[in-house]
Amino acid sequence: MTQKTAIEWTDSSCNPVRFKRKSDGKTGWACTKVAAGCKFCYAEAMNLRFGTQLPYNVQSIDKVDAFIDFKALAQLYKLEPQKIFMFNMTDVFGDFIPATYLAMTWMVMLDLPQHTFQILTKRPEKALLWSKIFARARESRLYEYELEQAKMYTKVYGALNNHKAEYAWANHLWLGVSIATRDDLHNLDLLRACSAKYKFVSFEPLLEDLGKVDLHGINWVITGGESGPNRRPFDEKWALGILAEADKLEIPFFHKQGSGFKPGQNDALNGLRYKEFPVVYRDCFVEEPT
Ligand code: SF4
Repeated sequence: MTQKTAIEWTDSSCNPVRFKRKSDGKTGWACTKVAAGCKFCYAEAMNLRFGTQLPYNVQSIDKVDAFIDFKALAQLYKLEPQKIFMFNMTDVFGDFIPATYLAMTWMVMLDLPQHTFQILTKRPEKALLWSKIFARARESRLYEYELEQAKMYTKVYGALNNHKAEYAWANHLWLGVSIATRDDLHNLDLLRACSAKYKFVSFEPLLEDLGKVDLHGINWVITGGESGPNRRPFDEKWALGILAEADKLEIPFFHKQGSGFKPGQNDALNGLRYKEFPVVYRDCFVEEPT
């Protein structure tokens, strides 16, 4: 279901694709770790306590079945307009998320331009592929099949408009990548190559000095240290370096937190708090005459 969240840069979170443990039907979430930033993944910690109780690794993926949470999708139609962090308990572009479920979720998001859907990934190469698939939807028979499946399921809950493939990255679908270390910096180029209109970068948990970061083509920047009992060191100079680059290009900057046991602690940089958001332009969907 969609839930209010303490994450300051959004209003709520939603996980329409979930997982069920094959052995006993226990439900929860799943993902696999792909970068240093994943080491103390809070979603895994939640899943170990309240979900399938399986760790986030490849072996666990074999032990679960994905399912779509129709109630969560249906609920999106009833909510007041807000920012929604999609798939915060997994990575939407993990290959363990069935393409049909991804397509279903996409159709629902496209159908709700009153919301802002924030989609954050550590797998921008798949986001790029997804962008291309949408752009070539009419040529891809496989994808057309998936799209039909998506329409078939989602029409039960909402008046699904006849969206066109070009709208895959409508203004209200923001795409972000996570960057924690220099090893992740190539994600910036992949993000720039995606056709999403609003692109953001979450430098969180920021684990080292990234040097000079090229932020051209980025619409929003978030920084933050790690929180929790196992938090790794954070130096505010690392975030200040990114702030300087963002300032040069007049990119809105949001510093979520420094290092602290709880999320949101020590959120000042040089004594100042930075909580900026991008200016949002809404799409206007026009029905084509039939
Ligand atoms: S990609 Fe995200 S959800 Fe998945 S393991 Fe890494 S931090 Fe956790």
